[in-house]
Amino acid sequence: MITPTETLRERALAALARVGAAPPEGTDHPARTPLTGDNLFGLAAASPAEAEQAIGRASEAFPAWRATPAPRRGELVRRLGDLLRAHQGDLADLVTLEAGKIRSEALGEVREMIDICDFAVGLSRQLHGRTIASERPGHRLAETWHPLGVVGVISAFNFPCAVWSWNTAVALACGDTVVWKPSELTPLISVACHTLLVRAARDVGAPEQVHQLLLGDRAVGELLVDDPRVALLSATGSTRMGREVGPRVAARFGRGLLELGGNNAAIVAPSADLDLAVQGIVFAAAGTAGQRCTSLRRLLVHRDVADTLTDRLTAAYRKLPIGDPFDTNTLVGPLIHTAALDRMRTALDRAGAEGGAVLAGGGRVLTEEAPGAAYVEPTLVRMPGQTGVVREETFAPVLFVLTYDTLEEALALHNGVPQGLSSSIFTRDQREAEVFLSSEGSDCGIANVNIGTSGAEIGGAFGGEKETGGGRESGSDAWRAYMRRATNTVNYSNELALAQNVSFL
Ligand code: NAD
Repeated sequence: MITPTETLRERALAALARVGAAPPEGTDHPARTPLTGDNLFGLAAASPAEAEQAIGRASEAFPAWRATPAPRRGELVRRLGDLLRAHQGDLADLVTLEAGKIRSEALGEVREMIDICDFAVGLSRQLHGRTIASERPGHRLAETWHPLGVVGVISAFNFPCAVWSWNTAVALACGDTVVWKPSELTPLISVACHTLLVRAARDVGAPEQVHQLLLGDRAVGELLVDDPRVALLSATGSTRMGREVGPRVAARFGRGLLELGGNNAAIVAPSADLDLAVQGIVFAAAGTAGQRCTSLRRLLVHRDVADTLTDRLTAAYRKLPIGDPFDTNTLVGPLIHTAALDRMRTALDRAGAEGGAVLAGGGRVLTEEAPGAAYVEPTLVRMPGQTGVVREETFAPVLFVLTYDTLEEALALHNGVPQGLSSSIFTRDQREAEVFLSSEGSDCGIANVNIGTSGAEIGGAFGGEKETGGGRESGSDAWRAYMRRATNTVNYSNELALAQNVSFL
């Protein structure tokens, strides 16, 4: 039973009202739900003039925000975290309504926002530079980190608010102002987050202009891409998007931070704990209906355990409850829209033509209850090799299973795709695990042992190599992308000594 659209509408309005957002109004920007495929409301997209003004406001707010002591800036982020905590349930409702995530994953996404706020509050007292040994007597060499300017954030539908928070909490602590262009598929959660941030600013006496929201499609995003006032453009989405955005930002010498598509693999070695592997694989491949950038898409299994593992996975796949993500028994919610279903079908057709055999799933379900939605069975496909379709990211719950005989062969398959986001190995052989984590091993930004490819913590830097774009966000020292570094040489002697012993005058 799928919740009717009218009930979903009421639920959205109630959540928006509780966070203090105005009821939606407008016509040119629909808010839609993948649960039924219906439109919930109309909203207003930003016009080019409004986008121009919003970037102007963020730009004007920057000098005062830059001059605010970093720990004071952290107070805004702390208050934002408090408000996110207080509204966890409301925000999770909106994530489920617009992105189709099951309850625990929607709550997990909101939790991630709270976690990064905690992290960024601490960071606001730790924006450290280094002191470096100078080669000259009576000199001090150091580096200082300064706020960068306006940060443009373009985000994808599948993490409609966590990715915003990774960027925004860190950017605000670093002294930057933010203009956010969320996915056109998830405007309501964006309005809710923006409302809470504006409230947090009022509560702590920070300028509200430090955060601007621009609803709209890629045309609005392009205004951010091309505007020279946007010092850093952080864009999360498909590799197609990154291919368009990256060169345009570079052409105006802006700084780009790209978080693009993945094609993540797990290697299952003969020594693997298969109980653990099955759990890790099913969550990573079928969770979020395969719509995470870190979703598991390729399984490389040693020939000795391939049949046992695929039998166990097939059994687990057949039992996965698919349906309304508000139902707490559901583990697999809908795809974002029927176009995603079409792309999944095309990929499965290609897999068939390239020699693949479907072991489980592949069908569309709940067509009578929700004809405009796209509920699908997570699909397991055994492939004869790493063919064309396996090398591409299909943003749906399709897991391709390949077999290997040696670790070298597994690593060659693993790294033999254009993307480089997340990876894992299931093994109890320490040597294999270490090889996988070494420079000769996984070529991804994330490499895990005995855990799946998805579900990263905020404490580490997040991002990937090759066509994934090379950007790093979230924890560790990812904050450095949001600041500019100055190298300082101070001469406290009475002599002018030149570097490299150069003599002059
Ligand atoms: P998408 O590329 O269709 O859209 C992402 C965002 O980019 C949207 O806000 C969209 O309006 C905007 N956009 C698209 N083209 C643009 C352009 N030319 N100029 C400016 N803005 C533009 O992606 P999606 O379907 O929303 O999300 C799914 C994709 O995102 C998958 O490929 C997934 O792997 C990737 N993703 C990556 C990460 C990561 O951290 N690496 C995280 C989440 C999602």
